[in-house]
Amino acid sequence: AAPLNFIYNVAPSRVVFGQGKIQTLPDELARQGLKTPLILTTPQQIQHGEKVKAILGGVGNLFTEATMHTPTSVTDTALAFTKSVDADSIISIGGGSTIGLGKAISIRTGLPHICIPTTYAGSEMTPILGESVDGLKKTRSDPKILPGTVIYDVDLTLSLPPGMSATSGINAIAHSVEALYAQNANPIISLLALEGVKALAGALPTIVESPSDVTARTSAQYGAWLCGLCLGSVGMSIHHKLCHTLGGSFGLPHAETHTIVLPHALAYNAPRIPEVMEKLAAVLPESNGDAIHGLNVLLTRLKVQRGLNQFGFKVEDVDKAADIAVSNPYYNPRPIERDLIRELIRRTQAGEDAR
Ligand code: NAD
Repeated sequence: AAPLNFIYNVAPSRVVFGQGKIQTLPDELARQGLKTPLILTTPQQIQHGEKVKAILGGVGNLFTEATMHTPTSVTDTALAFTKSVDADSIISIGGGSTIGLGKAISIRTGLPHICIPTTYAGSEMTPILGESVDGLKKTRSDPKILPGTVIYDVDLTLSLPPGMSATSGINAIAHSVEALYAQNANPIISLLALEGVKALAGALPTIVESPSDVTARTSAQYGAWLCGLCLGSVGMSIHHKLCHTLGGSFGLPHAETHTIVLPHALAYNAPRIPEVMEKLAAVLPESNGDAIHGLNVLLTRLKVQRGLNQFGFKVEDVDKAADIAVSNPYYNPRPIERDLIRELIRRTQAGEDAR
């Protein structure tokens, strides 16, 4: 094995984890001297926003227009509302889309941001913000984007439909998989990554069968926290770049795309990362010592879609996607070769097995 050699940075955020912890919100605001929060949700989760307001005794104002890809037009409307109600803080309750709006307001105003995640996407643990201007998505990273406080309350995840729970959970697993072979990987993050994969891979099949199983939901949320921390701490490679390209340029859905691409991205890197493959196989149930096999078994048990063709991605788009995917150089354990990437994208389009 290579001698240990690394830099380790820890993201300075406060995490409150446990069933019913949303009830600690008044204390979390009080400890920062905050009184007039702006509460963010999507139109689909207004009831979650109202629950927050009720817990705060009717204090706070709701903005319920959060939407996918954090368009700056929505952020501008939200900013005007923030000023008009004189908000002193942001509470975002929802998935990556709502948390993205919270980050966009917080970085522009300096207001403290409390996140209450209800999916497994992990945005709450990262200093990364993706925003779209006129349909073009741009990503930036700034330590000030990292939310200061995160409350993980399993009760809020119980309503996440089984299909979305499955793909959101695989989205989280993808963060950990890439953290294990990141250029700036380090021993602590690798431990968290394996623990995160193990927790999610163990819990997700149970959740798909019985979505209100609190033990499995708690385990998945614990795993999602760890995977989010990995995403926020080290660099991502081919898998995230491909998903970003496919999502951004072809309007493909975020978590579903991650789910379809992951076995293919891992298979691409497999020849260069034997130790990582061995460690992953050890935490994936029924892997028989083969991480790709373990991942395929898991995806089959989760009954998720396996081809991008199911989401309108056409075979004619494969070349264009390959061109975009290789246009910006980035670190990957196996060098990026256009022919191989094209073939990888073709397989994901057709829903073929990873090789
Ligand atoms: P999402 O936030 O888009 O949510 C999808 C839908 O599910 C929404 O309608 C939402 O209201 C609903 N929903 C969420 N939780 C629910 C619950 N518990 N019960 C019922 N409905 C619920 O989905 P997502 O996958 O969490 O986030 C995807 C977005 O987040 C993408 O735009 C992605 O780029 C971004 N993201 C960013 C980062 C980052 O670090 N910046 C990390 C991960 C994801």
